[in-house]
Amino acid sequence: MSENASLMDKWISLAKRRGFVFPGSEIYGGLANSYEYGPLGVELKKNIQDEWWNNFIRQRSDMVGLDSSIILHPKVWEASGHVASFADAMIDCKNCKSRTRADHLIEDYFEKKGEKTNVEGKSVEELDKIIQENKIPCPVCGKRDWTPVRKFNLLFETKIGIVPEDQSKVYLRGETAQGIFVSFKNIIDSTRVTLPFGVGQLGKTFRNEITKGNFIFRTLEFEQGEIEYFFDPSVEDWNKLFESWKDSLWKFVTGNLNVREENLRWREHSDEERSFYSKRTEDLEYKFPFGFKELWGLAYRTDYDLKQHMKYSGVDLSYSDPVSGKKFIPHVIEPAVGINRLLAMVMLDSYAEEGDRVVLKLKPRLAPYKAAIFPLLANKPELVELARKIYLDLKKEFPVAWDARGNIGKRYYSQDEIGTPYCMTVDFDSLDKDDVTVRNRDTMKQERVPIKELKNYLRNAIQENSSQ
Ligand code: ATP
Repeated sequence: MSENASLMDKWISLAKRRGFVFPGSEIYGGLANSYEYGPLGVELKKNIQDEWWNNFIRQRSDMVGLDSSIILHPKVWEASGHVASFADAMIDCKNCKSRTRADHLIEDYFEKKGEKTNVEGKSVEELDKIIQENKIPCPVCGKRDWTPVRKFNLLFETKIGIVPEDQSKVYLRGETAQGIFVSFKNIIDSTRVTLPFGVGQLGKTFRNEITKGNFIFRTLEFEQGEIEYFFDPSVEDWNKLFESWKDSLWKFVTGNLNVREENLRWREHSDEERSFYSKRTEDLEYKFPFGFKELWGLAYRTDYDLKQHMKYSGVDLSYSDPVSGKKFIPHVIEPAVGINRLLAMVMLDSYAEEGDRVVLKLKPRLAPYKAAIFPLLANKPELVELARKIYLDLKKEFPVAWDARGNIGKRYYSQDEIGTPYCMTVDFDSLDKDDVTVRNRDTMKQERVPIKELKNYLRNAIQENSSQ
């Protein structure tokens, strides 16, 4: 088994065993490309979302937040171009009936031969030609009995209305960004924002994806963090703004999320791959066990979206400069990320094996539990009572874990594996001296800390690790 394949297996197994990520609807035999985030996964995801929200919305003076609907007026998706062209090219094997994304089929085929290929932006006809000319077989059954390549729209459709005849078709949103354009007028009318400013939102997005099974990398529903940064192109140099966003994203991933720089890179979209309205698009990619893949998309989208929504809604979405009175349609730069991909990256990048222990070297701010509290012996009521008191007191301010099972060494290892930065043990000395042993996850060093200082100790540790 290759090193990367085994990291992938270890990650998936740890995620399930310790309650980070479970297979979707497992008791019913599973549902492809869907997952449940367990007790630790939901904490980690929430911490990443909070980090995103604090860093990009609350700590900036040029950003505001939004929480728009998952179901928007169906015309939104016509205006945005999703109804007409938000589609993947698929191909079906007539023999075994398996459906594959045509681009993935081709890329995997060449990758196995040790050759690199990029088919982004190729038409259905071009993809068909490549598959036929290279006689690419079905990866499931090995036959070469394909249907033609066809486009399948990724939007999930549903119906609203209680009377069947009155039902009208709507879509679950395929990205959170369109909600921002829809609320643009209300935001400028209800707040005192002036250009340049951005609107950000976090929320669920749905795409009817056929995937290659890279665990939570590509799923039917996922959490997005999207920003539309509006500006006046006659005042701001869009290249400079683009560079400053590149810088912010890089700092967030390497600083706030503590990811190693050598596992990250920028990739610029070619003219073929880039949307026709975008002047520049770059992806921040992370080195997943299955290769460098998109983590965060950054695109300069000009004034395309607001113009489209003006056309389809008939409402004026221009901005009036409060000083000069100049009226125009702002341009936007869009940084768009999947929170689930950030979580996947954070788990993989912090995974370490040291001797016989597995450690998730998560930043304390991201760790699901900030500390674990143990009584040295579970059968000594005076130790259990004091440990319990400390646990319940810390719990008012921090997510902390309780463990009284097995020996201390096993409890340490069990917390290391889920990234808990500190383990606090109440022993017989604690009863006289009012202190506990605090063991550090990364150095494995121990120190005595007064019980009354524990909250400060954790506060400092979390703060210290936030300001890289
Ligand atoms: P990809 O090329 O991987 O399909 P995309 O270019 O379609 O992604 P965008 O529409 O730019 O993605 O979405 C922004 C971000 O949302 C991506 O960078 C990625 O992190 C995340 N994302 C997109 N699709 C999925 C998915 N099916 N599951 C999880 N995250 C996703």
